[in-house]
Amino acid sequence: LQPMRGPLAPAFLAKLDETCQRLRAVWQTDNRLTLPLSGTGSAGMEAAFVNTVGPGDVVVVAVNGLFGERMVDVAGRCGAEVVRVDTPWGQAIDPEQVLAAHPHPKLIAAVHAETSTGVRNDIAPLGAGKGDALLLADCVTSLGGIPVATDDWGVDLAYGGTQKCLGVAPGLAPFTMNDRATERRIPKPQSWYLA
Ligand SMILES: *Cc1c(COP(=O)(O)O)cnc(C)c1O
Repeated sequence: LQPMRGPLAPAFLAKLDETCQRLRAVWQTDNRLTLPLSGTGSAGMEAAFVNTVGPGDVVVVAVNGLFGERMVDVAGRCGAEVVRVDTPWGQAIDPEQVLAAHPHPKLIAAVHAETSTGVRNDIAPLGAGKGDALLLADCVTSLGGIPVATDDWGVDLAYGGTQKCLGVAPGLAPFTMNDRATERRIPKPQSWYLA
């Protein structure tokens, strides 16, 4: 056993830097803002939405399972005008349909691997067709299990969770956000803690 290290101890900070660097490899990204949030995957979801979505913002959410439903809920609590695109549970989303749902949304959100049904959704076509919108991907179940090519796919912000495919201790949400998304952060997110 080793003694506890304080959160500002140089050894802890060095370990945190190393962890963030290794997370960039997992996410396949160069995003400077890549870190493990203290909280479960849901904290990642919350952080992603509260930082980018405010009252009246149009958010398109692809829904083909429980976690798409949850994103609709979270976006709604941020005051978003939510445009949901439903696909029957058990089927993959149709990216064209998602892209056609609104001419100029602020954000498009989709779940990469819908845990509730085991369906993988294609994220790359959403990135290719997103236009001016931000693209948010829930990768809680996919990260560490199947490739997640954040930068290549045009994903602007994404979150994962440690206790699913990564198979490490629960309670951390790997999070990544590019400059494009950071520049469009809303001025005063409703959450102080996750802002
Ligand atoms: C489990 C899960 C979440 C929520 O993560 P928690 O760690 O349970 O808070 C979000 N999205 C997906 C796709 C999940 O499988």
